[in-house]
Amino acid sequence: MTAVHDFNINIPQSFAGTKGKGNGDAQSVSNEILLKLPGNEANVLLPKLEFVRLRIHQVLHEAGDNIKSVYFIDTGLLSIVNLQPDGKSVEVGLMGKGGFAGLPVIDGFRTSPNRAVAQAEGTAYRMEADTLRQLLPQCPVLNRELHRFGQRLAMQAMQLAACNRLHEVDERLARWLLMSHDLLCSNELPLTQELLGQMLGTRRSSVSLAAGMLHRAGVITYTRGNVTLLDKSKLENAACDCYSAIQHQLKNWEAESQEN
Ligand SMILES: [Zn+2]
Repeated sequence: MTAVHDFNINIPQSFAGTKGKGNGDAQSVSNEILLKLPGNEANVLLPKLEFVRLRIHQVLHEAGDNIKSVYFIDTGLLSIVNLQPDGKSVEVGLMGKGGFAGLPVIDGFRTSPNRAVAQAEGTAYRMEADTLRQLLPQCPVLNRELHRFGQRLAMQAMQLAACNRLHEVDERLARWLLMSHDLLCSNELPLTQELLGQMLGTRRSSVSLAAGMLHRAGVITYTRGNVTLLDKSKLENAACDCYSAIQHQLKNWEAESQEN
């Protein structure tokens, strides 16, 4: 674990006053759940949050283990990965600065069913799981926003379940690159083909073929450990419909959340 230091973040009324630029500095907050909290809830949470840096490939929760800490993701990219006994894996969730790792805790569960692993360097605000359990009854907006995030992640997982079964690897690779691009807000994606293979639940050679197709089409370039997105509209054309289906539902729910 890479806690760099504890922070004194001066946040007088709410996290919204510190809205960051997504650059992961400790004086601001970019996590979209924290930014929605009213001042009284922000003041309750603030003393309990610790700013931490996330290393690439850092495991925040291992499948089957007790969840000791929860994480409000501030920058970077976090995957939820399903592991099989034979060592194979496939990604069932992906999040960035809108995200939270440790959802079972909010409903009184202690163990993680999947691995939560950082796919890029990033930052997060960490809290002890027991502390969150104690504070949630005092923080109805936090409780609501965490449950809404859980709905978004479940919706995404259902789409990815269909995607992983029904769509070709080049379409899935394009879908994954689009999602990562949006979450990282960057055209530079620090990803190896081995990692992509694990995320897409397929062999590395299949990922190489699919990446070669996108490269030849002028959509991406890649070097060892790094993918650069050259043309987002071409990437959207290359992706299956799952990316737009997820975006469409997120947009609908965002509009519906304004109604209440
Ligand atoms: Zn798909």
